[in-house]
Amino acid sequence: MAMRFDGKVAIVTGAGGGLGREHALALAARGAKVVVNDLGGARDGSGASASAAEAVVAEIVAAGGEAIANAASVTDFEAVKAMVAEATAKWGSVDILVNNAGVLRDKSFAKMEIADFQFVMDVHVMGAVNCTKAVWDGMRERNYGRIVMTTSSSGLYGNFGQANYAAAKMALVGFMQTLSIEGAKNNIRVNSLAPTAHTRMTEDLGAALPLEALGPELVTPGLLYLVSENAPTRCILGAGAGGFERAYVTLTQGVRIVGDDAPEQVEAQFEAISDRAGEIVPEMGAAQGMIELTKAQKAHA
Ligand code: NAD
Repeated sequence: MAMRFDGKVAIVTGAGGGLGREHALALAARGAKVVVNDLGGARDGSGASASAAEAVVAEIVAAGGEAIANAASVTDFEAVKAMVAEATAKWGSVDILVNNAGVLRDKSFAKMEIADFQFVMDVHVMGAVNCTKAVWDGMRERNYGRIVMTTSSSGLYGNFGQANYAAAKMALVGFMQTLSIEGAKNNIRVNSLAPTAHTRMTEDLGAALPLEALGPELVTPGLLYLVSENAPTRCILGAGAGGFERAYVTLTQGVRIVGDDAPEQVEAQFEAISDRAGEIVPEMGAAQGMIELTKAQKAHA
């Protein structure tokens, strides 16, 4: 059956171009009413203009869809609350939030100014927090919500020159882990998308493939699933060039070591600690403590 979003209201941040634009166009084409948010600044976050969001709204309306433009910075909580209030007043609810807005200030950590670290954290982390906070109560009241954090392979696995961006992107995964637990009883599902695409954000990176092979529209099917009726929750989905993968934060079974020579034993048994046989994907943070207590109980039995 076709995946449809009729009757659903979606906010896509940073949707004036790149991945966000594709997400907004696809959601609207499948029936959602869409708030196209974009500050309209440069890649490093400088400047602002409503025209990027307005152009995407014009595309959606020309294709027969419904959308409104919003030029709030996701870093401005008051402006974000006003955006959510406007969408709710116009369409009755916000059912889907795609936290996609982002900036880059790449430099090796040695050369990176604290201000560049702070700014990138602010846009990615606090931007997503502001938008999520602004829709959270409404989603809880209506027992329906679909939220996506846009993470990155740079956060999940690291990338030279992106200490600020990587820290921010992994922070969003932690944010997702807890929100998916807290939102479960109200049917709020929270996921993370790790895209790979040719956009202005990645235009400097040499691509081994023709650029069309890395089109942002190839990522959007993964996003649509993550915000659909049958969405999973707590999933980290990789998507790019038509490939889809899933990333996990796992925990090994480990070993129990106590005693005066414990430091030496941690070193000596590091291979056993690292052994991935029996590795689990914990359902919540407490699972680590449970594994540790189980080992301790066995030792005392
Ligand atoms: P992009 O630069 O085309 O899109 C980002 C958009 O966010 C821009 O339109 C920009 O104006 C907007 N934006 C920036 N700051 C904002 C703010 N404060 N408030 C509102 N809007 C703001 O780049 P993209 O590649 O489409 O990136 C989209 C998301 O995907 C980002 O979160 C990015 O970090 C992430 N991502 C992209 C890739 C990739 O390969 N392109 C890889 C991993 C993660």
